[in-house]
Amino acid sequence: MKYILALDQGTTSSRAIVFDRQGRAVASAQQEFRQSFPRPGWVEHDAREIWASQRAVAAQALRDVLEGQSLHALAGEVAIGITNQRETTVLWDRATGEPVAPAIVWQDRRTAARCDELRRQGKAGLIQRKTGLVIDAYFSGTKLQWLLEHVPGARARAQRGELAFGTIDSWLIWNLTGGTTHVTDASNASRTLLFNLHTLQWDDELLRLLDIPRSVLPQVVPSCGVLGHTASAVFGASLPIAGLAGDQQAATFGQACFAPGMAKNTYGTGCFMLMNTGDAAVASRNQLLSTVGWQGPPQQARNTAYCLEGGVFMAGATIQWLRDGLQMIQSAPEVEALAALVPDTGDVYLVPAFAGLGAPDWDGYARGTLIGMTRGTTRAHIARAALEAIALQVADVFAAMARDSGIALKELRVDGGASSNNLLMQMQADFLGVPVVRPKVTETTALGAAYLAGLATGFWRDAQEISAQWQVDRRFEPQMTGRDRTAKLARWRQAVERAKGWDNVTP
Ligand code: ADP
Repeated sequence: MKYILALDQGTTSSRAIVFDRQGRAVASAQQEFRQSFPRPGWVEHDAREIWASQRAVAAQALRDVLEGQSLHALAGEVAIGITNQRETTVLWDRATGEPVAPAIVWQDRRTAARCDELRRQGKAGLIQRKTGLVIDAYFSGTKLQWLLEHVPGARARAQRGELAFGTIDSWLIWNLTGGTTHVTDASNASRTLLFNLHTLQWDDELLRLLDIPRSVLPQVVPSCGVLGHTASAVFGASLPIAGLAGDQQAATFGQACFAPGMAKNTYGTGCFMLMNTGDAAVASRNQLLSTVGWQGPPQQARNTAYCLEGGVFMAGATIQWLRDGLQMIQSAPEVEALAALVPDTGDVYLVPAFAGLGAPDWDGYARGTLIGMTRGTTRAHIARAALEAIALQVADVFAAMARDSGIALKELRVDGGASSNNLLMQMQADFLGVPVVRPKVTETTALGAAYLAGLATGFWRDAQEISAQWQVDRRFEPQMTGRDRTAKLARWRQAVERAKGWDNVTP
C-alpha cells in the first residue's frame, strides 16, 4: 500500500485527500454541491449529486497522484477511508439505487413537532439512556420516519424490503461497491436515535417507537476494518474500503485523542468539542451528548471508544456576522488585528445566541445580546468581545465535560478554520486554564478517516505510530491568573443569563 485516499463528504462540499505514510497530504480535490431550502426550516441535498461530486473529486485526487499512469496501477496501492456529514438521511431503492426523495440534511427542522410530541410522551429519559442523545430534529430517526410517512408508497415498499436507509457513509459505500454493500459504523449509527449505545446494536424498542422497519437498516461494521471493495467500474481498480467514521469522531481520531481524557475542539461555523471517555458511555448530567467515537482497530476488536460531545452553534459564524451583518471587517482573519487594537473589551460582552444556545444551556429562546457598552466602546471592543464569546462558550462546554466525566482535562487540541486565529487561541487557553495545542495538519477530519483505513490495512502499525506522527504547530499556554479567570467566567455567565429566554417574553 502506498497511499490512503480519504473521502471527506461535508455539508457544503465533497473533498478527497490522498495521504502518504508520513500523514502528508500529497493530492486533494474539492467540489461544492447544491443546497436546497424548499420551505422555511427545510434543508435538502440531492444524494445523487453528493455521490457524483464525491466520485469526481476522488478520481481527480487519484489521477494527480498517478501522474499519467492508468488507474489500474492503483490496485494494491491505495485503501480508502470515509468520513461524512452526520445525521443527513437518505432512503433509496435497492433495485435501482435511486433515492426515493431528496436527502434530509442534519440542519433540517421539519420534524421538530414530532420531537416535541416524543418529549410530551415522556420519552426523553428512555432515549437519553439508550442512545446518549437528546430528542432533537437534528438526528436521523425522525427524518427517516418522515420519509416513510410522506413519500407515496414508501412504507409498504420498505416493509417488502425494497428500500434501504442510510446516512451519507452508507450511501457512498453502496455506490462505491456497486450496490453490493449496505453498511454503516457505530459512530454514524449512534446519531440516528435508533442505535443502542451500550449493546452497539439497533434497538427494537426505539424502532417501534419511531415505526421504522428493520429491513431498511444497514449492517453495523467496525470503523476500522475492511468492509468491502470498490466496484472496478468506479475508479478502474478494486480498492479496499477500510475506515469509516462521522466527521467529528474522525477529527477526534485525526487529533490522535486515543486515550480517555483527551479532547479536541473544531472551530468552524460552529464548534464541536469531543472528549474520549474510554470504553464506557458517560451519561451526561449537563446536557452533553454521549456518542460512539469509533470501533476498532481490529487488534483491539472489542475496543469501542466513547466520547462526550458538546456543540456551540455560533462560533466562526459570529465572525461572519461581524463581516456580513455589521460590515465591520472585510474578511474573517481581519478580526484578529481589529480586536488586538484594545487590551480588553472594556467589560463589553457579546452573547451570540442568534439561534438560541446549545450545550450546556440549551435555550432555544435565547437571543443575541451585546451588553456593557459605554460612550468609550469602539468597533475594536466589539470585535474583541466576539472573539471572547467563542472562547467563553467553548469554556462552558469544557467545564460541563469535566463535570460529566469527572476527568480534569489537561489540554485541548484544536483545528478548524478559526483555529488559525492566534489571539482567539490565546484567549481560549486563558479561559480554560490549560494549554491549547494546534497541530501542523489541521485537516484532521480527512486525516482521521485515513488513519482508520491505514490501521486496518497495516499501512500504519498502531496508534503509537500515529501519535508519534501527530505534530504540534503551536502550543498556547494560559497566561491569566486563576482569580482573573474565575471573575471573567462569572461575568460572562451574568451576560448569558441576560440573553436567555428573550424570544419567549411577551411584550
Ligand atoms: P466550516 O467547516 O464549518 O465551513 P471552517 O473550518 O472552514 O468552517 O472555518 C470557517 C469559519 O471560521 C468561518 O465561520 C469563519 O468566519 C471563521 N474564520 C476563519 N478564519 C478566521 C480567523 N482568522 N479568525 C476568526 N474566525 C475565522
